[in-house]
Amino acid sequence: MKLVNGFDLVAYAKKNGYVLPAFNTTNLEMTYAIANGLMEANLPGYIQISSNNLRLSNPYVIAMIAKDAVKKSEIPIGLHLDHGKSFEDVKACVDAGFTSIMIDMSHLPFEENIRESKRAAEYCHFYGIPVEVELGALRGKEEDIVNEGECKTDPDMVAEYVSKTECDLLAVSVGNVHGLCLNPQIDIPLLEKINQISKVPLVLHGGSGISKEIIWEAKKHGLIKINYGSDLRKEFIGTFGEAYETNHNEHDVIHLSIDAVNHVANKAKELVMMINEH
Ligand SMILES: [Zn+2]
Repeated sequence: MKLVNGFDLVAYAKKNGYVLPAFNTTNLEMTYAIANGLMEANLPGYIQISSNNLRLSNPYVIAMIAKDAVKKSEIPIGLHLDHGKSFEDVKACVDAGFTSIMIDMSHLPFEENIRESKRAAEYCHFYGIPVEVELGALRGKEEDIVNEGECKTDPDMVAEYVSKTECDLLAVSVGNVHGLCLNPQIDIPLLEKINQISKVPLVLHGGSGISKEIIWEAKKHGLIKINYGSDLRKEFIGTFGEAYETNHNEHDVIHLSIDAVNHVANKAKELVMMINEH
């Protein structure tokens, strides 16, 4: 299959009752691994890359690898920009063939957040691509994004924010944490309240560590997309780390990279199956 447009992917998930995982890639190996994991599970989802990671490669390279990685897929897979940091990054990814976009202006004051998010949404919508935005801030660390304090999404701001930004997906802060957090306290009543107000489906960042029971509960309250970064990165790094621990002269990059692809794919498969057991 070709990479699937984000609107079609969300419609497919809604129709079939799926939650879509969005797995963060970093490089060629992780991109193939994520596609393989989804294909083995025969469940839909996203390959996503953060704005920060674009320093390592560029959107065209990632889009080309992703297109190749999904070409044998029989289930829909989209390519998403995670935490788009600027209008320029958004534009570069749309132009390169990404099928879904996030613009993250959650660090800005409310009015500026709306203005910048709307600007990105207008550009994306011109090309028929959906836009995820964020209201509230997550505790924890995701690459360059570090937050000490937590700022939960204020439900009183949701209606105005969603309608003025003209967004298609809303990322919320309801106790979810970026990075590896073993026991995040997800505020289901708050999620339920936000969902009653929001016209668009909801997204949880910081999926690693959230129990399946909580995800199934969140699914009843508008959850359509959940992001996973740390779980997959740990599998990737662990493969090389263990080999080095065993033998400090280890230099078989090809076999270790193939192992890393398999380990990351297995984790992606396990996660997409877990969130869709119900
Ligand atoms: Zn995030």
